[in-house]
Amino acid sequence: MDVWEKIKEAQGLEAHFVGECDSGLLFRVESDDTVCHVVISDRLVQCDCVDYQEEWYTAEGSLLCVHVWAVLYLLLGLNGGGAVEV
Ligand SMILES: [Zn+2]
Repeated sequence: MDVWEKIKEAQGLEAHFVGECDSGLLFRVESDDTVCHVVISDRLVQCDCVDYQEEWYTAEGSLLCVHVWAVLYLLLGLNGGGAVEV
């Protein structure tokens, strides 16, 4: 999946801010049949999805899976989510 496909697919996902955890800000991202968790810190982003687990070590930096893009949409208010209260 190329980056534009991921960005498009991310628009159909629902991201929610859960709270702060030891490693950063925790988000929950829901699609039709799965729930994933994304952590964002000042150094990296991480997700617990299969894509991330399989591909992160070949990525040059943090892998940006669809769930990470969904969180970025939420944070930037681009998906109708509005601003996040942190
Ligand atoms: Zn993911």
